[in-house]
Amino acid sequence: MKPRDVETVFTRLQQQLPAPTTELNYASPFELLVAVILSAQATDISVNLATDKLYPVANTPESILALGVDGLKRYIRTIGLFNTKAENVIRTCRILLEEHGGEVPTNREALEALPGVGRKTANVILNTAFGQPTIAVDTHIFRVSNRLGIAPGKNVLAVELGLLKAVPEKFLMDAHHWLILHGRYTCVARKPKCGECILNDLCPSAFRADAPKAGAKKKPAARKKAKATTTRKKKSSAKKASVKPATLKDSRRKKAAGRRTFTGDA
Ligand code: SF4
Repeated sequence: MKPRDVETVFTRLQQQLPAPTTELNYASPFELLVAVILSAQATDISVNLATDKLYPVANTPESILALGVDGLKRYIRTIGLFNTKAENVIRTCRILLEEHGGEVPTNREALEALPGVGRKTANVILNTAFGQPTIAVDTHIFRVSNRLGIAPGKNVLAVELGLLKAVPEKFLMDAHHWLILHGRYTCVARKPKCGECILNDLCPSAFRADAPKAGAKKKPAARKKAKATTTRKKKSSAKKASVKPATLKDSRRKKAAGRRTFTGDA
């Protein structure tokens, strides 16, 4: 996408939502860190339901550590992969207390050294809690960036680096949230809502993002259906083939019987 169009994309996203932010509930960098660790492969809604009960009881490294793994699990068992996440959060709390004075570190290296924290989580914390212009590429940002052609890439790191290069500096701080929200509510995975998308005149994938690509393999369900149809056809042909000789035999027998009857009557 041309730089002028990228500028227009973000100008429109900004006009549509001037102050975007995360949909995770949090009141401190530590609460955000725990929420982001819990949100891996889970929805923000499911995380909020759990943390809304957890944080009034425990919202510091000391208090969550005091709950222990089993105590923490009681609050987060509705979230996918909660066993591993509980272990990671408890180990993270211990490291924060032992190595960072109970505070969430503000640099990438220290963040990524925490259990359950990868590059994406570190980017969210650096951006949302500490106001650094990072972009955490998740499934939504990956899809939207490729469809719009702002930062095409085959993996999340390529897209992240492409976005850091393509997005004008004045939009970098909020680009992450604009793209996530656009992917979550408009440019959705299966049937993007191109008709109501404010970017559809600029987007090279508009109205064809959900069309199957040329040469794409059939989906498993379609393959299953096609196989069932073929099997039905084969069975039907086999049935016809097996009926034919019997019918001929029958007709020959009838003819012979007819001849015998005619002969006898004569
Ligand atoms: S026009 Fe369609 S494919 Fe392009 S960004 Fe909008 S919703 Fe996504």
